[in-house]
This record gives sequence, C-alpha cells and structure tokens, in this order.
Amino acid sequence: MAILTGEQFRESFKEVSPEIYIRGERVEDVASHPLLRQTVHHLAAGCDLLFEPELKDRLVVRSPISGEDIPRLGMHIQQEKEDLFIKAELTREVSSRRICSACGSNMLSVTWAMIHDVDAAHGTDYLSRYRDFIIKIHKTGLPFAWCMMDPKGDRSLPPSRQPEPTDLRIVERKPGGVVVNGVKLHTTMGPCTRFVVVAPCRALGKEDKDFAVSFALPIDAKGVKMIARPSPGPSRETSMESPLSSRFLGVEAMTIFDNVFVPEENLFMCGEWEQAANLSMYFACLHRQSKCACSAGHCDMFAGAAALAADVNGVSGRASHIQEKITGMIMDGEAGYGCALGAAVNAKRHPSGVWMPDPLIANSGLGAIRSKVGRHMEHLHDIAGGLIATMPTEADWNNPELRKYMDKALRGNPKYTTEERLRALHLIQDLAASRAAGTIMAFTINAAGSPATNQVVVRRAYDLDKQIRYAKELASINT
Ligand SMILES: Cc1cc2nc3c(=O)[nH]c(=O)nc-3n(C[C@H](O)[C@H](O)[C@H](O)COP(=O)(O)OP(=O)(O)OC[C@H]3O[C@@H](n4cnc5c(N)ncnc54)[C@H](O)[C@@H]3O)c2cc1C
Repeated sequence: MAILTGEQFRESFKEVSPEIYIRGERVEDVASHPLLRQTVHHLAAGCDLLFEPELKDRLVVRSPISGEDIPRLGMHIQQEKEDLFIKAELTREVSSRRICSACGSNMLSVTWAMIHDVDAAHGTDYLSRYRDFIIKIHKTGLPFAWCMMDPKGDRSLPPSRQPEPTDLRIVERKPGGVVVNGVKLHTTMGPCTRFVVVAPCRALGKEDKDFAVSFALPIDAKGVKMIARPSPGPSRETSMESPLSSRFLGVEAMTIFDNVFVPEENLFMCGEWEQAANLSMYFACLHRQSKCACSAGHCDMFAGAAALAADVNGVSGRASHIQEKITGMIMDGEAGYGCALGAAVNAKRHPSGVWMPDPLIANSGLGAIRSKVGRHMEHLHDIAGGLIATMPTEADWNNPELRKYMDKALRGNPKYTTEERLRALHLIQDLAASRAAGTIMAFTINAAGSPATNQVVVRRAYDLDKQIRYAKELASINT
C-alpha cells in the first residue's frame, strides 16, 4: 500500500478532517475544495508519476528501514551515496516538468541525522521512535508537511528574548508527553498532506531550550490548524490559460499549534538545544544539493518553453540573440546540475548513515543558479514578445465572434495554428508574467534558505587562510 495511485490518494482524504482555513473560511472537504484543486492534482499527479514506465524503477525504491516500496523523492532516508546521484537526476527531471518535485526525502533524512546526534550526545533513544514514524508513513504512502521555519519575530533576537514569543515551543511537560504552542510558517502543500513533521529552524542557546523541539503528528491532531494561501493558479477550470499553474504548484500555509499535546512516542527532540544548529547545517548540505538540481530543471523548462515561443513566432533559428539567451538557460542549468553532482561526489557519510553532500559545492552552486532565474524570466519576455502580457483571454478565444479576429491577427509561424501559438504564449505568461512566476521566483530565492545563508555556509567551509598563505608565498611576504 506504500505506493498509491493518484486516485487512491484522492480517496484517502475521506479518512481525515483537518482544521484548514482558506480565504477566511473553514474547509469542509480538502479533496474537492476549488482553491485546493491544483495542490491535490499536483500531489496526485506525483503519485501517478511513480507508475510511468520510464521513471518507476528510479522513482520507487525499497526502503531498507521499512521494507516497503516507497517514493524515493518523497520519503527515502538517503543512506547510500548513490541515492544522492539518483535523487539529483530525478529532481531535475520532475522539476523540468512541473516545477516542484516534492523532495520530502531530504527533510526526513536531515532530521534522522539530527536525532542521531541528539541520542549520541544525551544518551536518549529518540531515533527508535523516529524510525517507527518513518515506517508508519512508508506503510501509508501518504505525504507529510515540513514545518521547520518559525516566524522568528525580531531577527536580531533569539526566540526566548522576543517580547512575545511566537516560535513553536514546549509550554508544558506532562507525564506521557509535552504540550507545544506557537506557529510555523511557509508550510508548502501542508493542507493537502496527512502528517506534520516539525523541527527547529536555527541555532539555539541554553535559554532557548524549550524551542528545541521535534515531533510528528497527524494533520488532524487536536489544536493543529492551518491558514492556507491559495496556490498561484486560477481557481476556475482552464484549457489554454495557466497551463502549468492550473494543474501544478500548491498552497502554502501558516501552521498554528494551539496548545497541542504531543505524545512521547511522537517526540524526537525535547529541549536538547545544542543539536538544533546541526539540522540547519545538514539541511544546507542535503537540501541545497537537491535545489541545484531542481533549479537546473527550471532552466530546462524555461529553455524548452522559450524555444517553442521562438518557433511559434517564426524566429526560431533566425535571431542569434534568441539562440544566445536560450543557450544561456541551458548552460546555467547544466552548471547547477554539475554542482548537484559534484556535491554528491564529495559527500561524506554522517554517523547516522545519511550521506551529506559537500556544503561548499552545494551552496556555491545554488547561490549561482538562483541568481540567474530573474534574468531568465526577463529573457522569456524578450523572446516571446509583449503578447504574453497583453493578449486577449481564453474566454475571448472561446467566443466565435471574437475568435475570428483573433485567429487572423494573432497568427505567427504558419507551421502552427493560432490556437497553438496562443497555447505556447500562455505557457510563457504562466512562467514569466503571472502570480505563478512570482511563486517560482519565491521558490528559487527563499525556499531552502535565503541567498545570504549560502554565503554564510561558504565562508564557514572554505579554507581562505590556505589561499592567503599561497598568496603570501607568491608575493614573497613572510608575515
Ligand atoms: C515558496 C516557499 C516555500 C517554502 N517552503 C517551506 C516549507 O515547506 N517548510 C518550511 O519550514 N519552510 C519553507 N519555506 C521557508 C524558507 O526556508 C524561508 O522563507 C527562508 O529560509 C527565509 O526565511 P524568512 O522567509 O524568514 O526570511 P528572513 O530570514 O527574514 O530573511 C529576510 C532577509 O533578512 C536577512 N536576515 C534574516 N535574519 C537575519 C539576521 N539575523 N542577520 C542578518 N540578516 C538577516 C536574510 O538574509 C534576508 O536577506 C519556504 C519558503 C518559500 C518562499
């Protein structure tokens, strides 16, 4: 049962009734709510992908932990070096087709490593509980939401010194568990998942020990509430417009823990503040390696869409500036992917068995590729032309009276019908001139940590002193 079809995934919503709000109102039925449609579709399509003949041998892996066949990108604990390469390849492939490859395996793996560190330092036995949770989700095959990022309030202060703390924290220790209170932000796809997995988002001090908490709960646990932000695509059904975002991408959510009881067996860290920073470091290695491959996939998608737009406009192969721009997208993608692979080559095995890609290469690669996406969007505008922002809508095309004008005036390369040209331009609009474009930018710039965090990791990991010594040697300086 660990590998669900899209249909089985849709059906599974009948079993739960989480407390979700969207546009101010309580959601009665997640699976059928019009503002959650794209998210359910995105996740269901991800299930169906597991059955695609060309992909299934790599996308599905038998977990040594649970013995179950599971989605590699969503749930696998990466304990073989080879996992890093297969993951990078698949992440690029899936992201080039639907932007987000739902890479939950990274989150589960870095949490596994952090919990191992907690046990090693404190003599606790959290990892066996976490293992039980992993086996549970492997058996259900149902997705989880990753709740790491706290609101953080005034960034210059640690969580315990905020005037009114909102970051998630332990407020009561009881026999058999703890009570937690607070908020996690940016819970991607959260409302359409079935579990929340919670971990600290930054280094903590002794006085912050109540904020050092990690656990997992079913999404409908008492006191767990999500305020969802609709996904960027249109809420109405479309056939031409928003071809990507009407089917893919997902809701975001603010996740509230309103005095939630976490039973002991679901608790994986409880006050061990010393290891909170480890999670961020592991995340910076493993998830950013993936993000290099993910962004490479976006470059691929942009390059394909740009080449199609040039062709429907009749300028394919003619304009050298267009060829240069498309080639630039391809080269940026290859460079990002190269960093994903390079970081995997230099990976080191953490004592928990999880392989950690090289932080220098992963962060340098991500820092480089994420800075290019704005440029690529600019080039999509340039290549496709102004129509992506000014063309009449799909409803106009569907009106025969108006279509006759549009059909003539909006024709391009005779190899394509006008409708085909408009379809291609709608794709570019979705990628570069829409709310979805803003979301893609947000994924690129902030998901996996803000760009400055790439620099922080690189400064920490790079041996600049060695290079200064070499510089002195060359310049014959002895001090
Ligand atoms: C589309 C999207 C999906 C996401 N999905 C998830 C998810 O599923 N789960 C999850 O947990 N998180 C998720 N995130 C959160 C993501 O990891 C954060 O947005 C990111 O780490 C940046 O944090 P922030 O938004 O709080 O911005 P901030 O940290 O406030 O950053 C804003 C700016 O302030 C700077 N800054 C911040 N603090 C300091 C400081 N102390 N000193 C100096 N400069 C500082 C930063 O460098 C940056 O330039 C997602 C984000 C996005 C955009």
